[in-house]
Amino acid sequence: MTTNIQPSSLPAANATGRPFSELPLSPAMLATLQQLEYLTMTPIQAASLPIALAGHDLIAQAKTGSGKTAAFALPLLTKLNPRHFAVQAMVLCPTRELADQVTQEIRRLARFEDNIKVITLCGGSTMRPQRASLEHGAHVVVGTPGRIMDHLERGSLSLDALNTLVLDEADRMLDMGFYDDIVYVAKQCPKNRQTLLFSATYPESISKLSRQFLRNPQEVKLLEQH
Ligand code: ADP
Ligand code: MG
Repeated sequence: MTTNIQPSSLPAANATGRPFSELPLSPAMLATLQQLEYLTMTPIQAASLPIALAGHDLIAQAKTGSGKTAAFALPLLTKLNPRHFAVQAMVLCPTRELADQVTQEIRRLARFEDNIKVITLCGGSTMRPQRASLEHGAHVVVGTPGRIMDHLERGSLSLDALNTLVLDEADRMLDMGFYDDIVYVAKQCPKNRQTLLFSATYPESISKLSRQFLRNPQEVKLLEQH
């Protein structure tokens, strides 16, 4: 099923959108959103969150700056068990810069829970501190496909407890030649997981990837305003 939505507004000028309180979110999560001054959902959040929070796989297409991070961060945080020190969610990003931004946003949104540990695994940093962080127990891993593959090959990362896999900026990851790495990583994830794919564009390579790894995904497209 594909839902096409018109962007009524972007985050900065989002005074007329629907409130987060209509979603099945905890009071603590709603309080965090209020603290962050996320007063209403952006259009891509309003379209994606009911689907993702219901546990469905999702393909969401929307341009940069439309609020995609919270659209996948809220569903993965809602499912996390903080008392289980194992990687339960993983976000693949094309670059270290984007991975750092996603990590920061997930940490902000996880403020209502003291004990949620989010770590970034990207190339360009030494392996040892990353291995140490993993050994201490992380709930959420955000990283680039190459480095995550490295950790999987060396046995320093286990995805046995993973319940949410996010492909963020999937079109850029494919442009950067990460197709095979993504395939490798996705194959290490439990079959019984939720997969959320976010992309600014929807080339054939994305639909090929989604056919391989998503289960009956619902599609949401935020159309450009003309
Ligand atoms: P994208 O991933 O689509 O490029 P981001 O998730 O990075 O977009 O969000 C863009 C900006 O909008 C960020 O600064 C974020 O904090 C802010 N933002 C996201 N959702 C909301 C919201 N519901 N209300 C207000 N600001 C928001
Ligand atoms: Mg983004």
